[in-house]
Amino acid sequence: MKDSFLKVTQMVLTFLRPNNLSQKMMRVIFTIYLGVTFVITCMQFATEYLKAQDSILNEVTELEGTVRGPIATSLWQYDRNQVNVLVDGLIKMPIIAGVDIVDNDGTTLISRRAYSSNSEPLSLFDVQSDLFWNLNDERIPLGSLILYSSSEVVLDRVIFGFSLIVITAVIKLSILFWLFIWAFGRYLANPLKELMVQVNDVQHDQSIRTRINLSNIEDNELSLLQSHMNNMLSSMETDRRRLLEDEQAKRNWLEEAVAKRTAELQVANEQLKTLATRDSLTGALNRGSFFETAQHILVLSRRQKSTASFVLMDLDHFKYINDTYGHFSGDQVLIHFVRTINSLLRESDLIGRVGGEEFALFLPDTNAEAAFQIAEKVRTAISTSRFEVDGVSISYTVSLGIESSSMDDQSVDTLFKRADVKLYGAKDKGRDRVEQ
Ligand code: GH3
Ligand code: MG
Ligand code: MG
Repeated sequence: MKDSFLKVTQMVLTFLRPNNLSQKMMRVIFTIYLGVTFVITCMQFATEYLKAQDSILNEVTELEGTVRGPIATSLWQYDRNQVNVLVDGLIKMPIIAGVDIVDNDGTTLISRRAYSSNSEPLSLFDVQSDLFWNLNDERIPLGSLILYSSSEVVLDRVIFGFSLIVITAVIKLSILFWLFIWAFGRYLANPLKELMVQVNDVQHDQSIRTRINLSNIEDNELSLLQSHMNNMLSSMETDRRRLLEDEQAKRNWLEEAVAKRTAELQVANEQLKTLATRDSLTGALNRGSFFETAQHILVLSRRQKSTASFVLMDLDHFKYINDTYGHFSGDQVLIHFVRTINSLLRESDLIGRVGGEEFALFLPDTNAEAAFQIAEKVRTAISTSRFEVDGVSISYTVSLGIESSSMDDQSVDTLFKRADVKLYGAKDKGRDRVEQ
């Protein structure tokens, strides 16, 4: 009960305040059309009524013309019975609602009505004519005859015409109503609804690749709106694609920049590492790095129960080389020395610069005998080498002291110290020697 009341309220509200364009148009058009139809129908009713009343008046006038003579004759002859018969005849006629006969003084002689006092008609209209008697060309007035007809008589006459008007109006109204409903639906409401659904889909799916495609569309504003919206979607799609391409290009550029910067950082890190661990002049390990790495290898060697050897090397009379050929040439000698040794070592062997012209080798998995052979190879390679600086041929020698690790050796420093003693011995015994 409550639900149906709500439903009806909703429908009335929708009609009074429609939220739909075609409903609103229908309401406006039909309100105006109903108003106009009502006015026209009323005018048709009035015209019909007046026409019928006019025709009844004519008929009553004609009738009066017919009965006036006999009534006047009966009055002249004082034949009251005849007058009554004539009046009774008149009152029985369907278009007569009343008959009055009055004398010359205005006194009513006869008054008859076709209705009772409680069924009086809405309105009466009458036709009045004088009654007279012609005697020797003299008109003798006898009174007057008044015939009444009523609105009921007119309505009876026009009821069929009225019904026709009403039926025609209802049929016209219904046809127009359904025609309007169909035309609005076909040309406005349905395309608009379809447009709304498709626009909503585009908005909901965020898919600007979709195009609006209305069915049953004709060449009108809606087709123009459709093509404008599709153009808008196309340009949005182009813009979005361009934006995506721009974004991709930026991302690529960024990735390239990051990769380049990473590579640069790696190089810089390598350089930093080299700077931190290597001697800048010769490329050999610097003292700290050499001892640190050698210590690791020594620990490993102890664990693997293998022998490592430490070779300490000091260039002979280097002060003399500096003094004779200059400090720059001395630097070239140091570079040449490391390069020459590097070509003789294994990859796992370490070479470090532990002093000005003092270098050390740490040879993993190398016993005293093998270490001696390597040291001897180094010594021979240096003493037999010749190299030129600024057109001057320079030769030099090196003294070497070897110390191999035992299981008791836990620190490279102790090996270094012992090798230094051996080196000192080599110097003492005349240089360009290997001492073990
Ligand atoms: P010895 O045979 O006894 O070792 O004699 P020496 O002349 O080599 O004596 P010492 O070891 O005392 O001299 C080392 C010299 O090496 C002293 C120093 O001027 C020089 N020197 C140290 N570092 C460098 C360097 O980086 N470049 C150059 N050109 N000379 C250096
Ligand atoms: Mg020295
Ligand atoms: Mg020296």
